[in-house]
Amino acid sequence: QAKALGRGRHHFFDVSLREWVQRRLRMEQDLRDAVHDGQLWPAYQPVVDLRTGEMVAVEALMRWTHPRQGAISPAEFIPLAEESDLINVIGKEMLRATTRELAAWRARGLDLTLKVNLSTRQLDDPHLVTAVQDALAETGLPAAALCLEVTESALMRDQEAAAEVLASLRSLGVLLAIDDFGTGYSSLAQLRRLTLDTLKIDRSFITGIAESRDAEAIVTSIIAMAHAVDLTVIAEGVESAEQLELLRALGCDQAQGYHLGRPVPAAELFGQ
Ligand code: C2E
Ligand code: MG
Ligand code: MG
Ligand code: MG
Repeated sequence: QAKALGRGRHHFFDVSLREWVQRRLRMEQDLRDAVHDGQLWPAYQPVVDLRTGEMVAVEALMRWTHPRQGAISPAEFIPLAEESDLINVIGKEMLRATTRELAAWRARGLDLTLKVNLSTRQLDDPHLVTAVQDALAETGLPAAALCLEVTESALMRDQEAAAEVLASLRSLGVLLAIDDFGTGYSSLAQLRRLTLDTLKIDRSFITGIAESRDAEAIVTSIIAMAHAVDLTVIAEGVESAEQLELLRALGCDQAQGYHLGRPVPAAELFGQ
């Protein structure tokens, strides 16, 4: 009986594994098509200055509108793109499209900067620095109008290599941010060495800030630490007025979140 059960389980496992592999292969092929068919597009989320209340930047967040499945989350397709070389193709296209859009907004008098996410695999790409340089040259944007975001875990994975690429990007004059801060294990010394400009506190710390003294204490100390090494602090995932007021009182510089504005298509943000 045990044997029958074992065989049954094995069979079940086989089927689901095969389905899983097939689904991934199909998605990877679909993603390749998506790149060529223009199914990938940037949504933009406002970043607000907490002193003035003004929108000072937008973060570009990639969206995939699949022809049959509809919207697919970047949390699902970015890791898939990272497993192949697709992330580098997609990432460069994202840079090109969003810097072009930013240049058009600035030409209309909107005083904004742009935040673009980079994945680990992009830091490994020897052509990344040139791609950033090209995007700036083609649009005529000042380098400081572009801020590149790298997650804390990506930075900590291969510190030496990452530090070198970041230094090259830094020498172009672009700004650098550490994203999802608090989810990795970086030290103050490591942060200093990377010469970053901005630290984004991960959403998970902001969620409980208005209810929990512990959460508030953690955010307070992250802000103090970041300011001690001259980093601009952005709170991610602000979903309520209470959280916003508290962050303002704690001296946080900027904030992002559904309470201030969801990621939306460019046309919805400023009109055509
Ligand atoms: P991220 O860079 O940390 O972006 C913030 C994520 O939080 C976004 O999810 C955003 O839509 C979401 N968010 C913003 N405000 C709130 C809020 O108030 N509440 C909640 N619950 N969520 C909020 P999204 O757009 O699904 O992107 C997920 C992640 O995928 C991003 O995290 C980033 O790491 C990655 N990603 C997105 N676009 C790109 C891209 O163009 N290139 C690369 N390499 N990664 C990207
Ligand atoms: Mg980000
Ligand atoms: Mg983040
Ligand atoms: Mg994130």
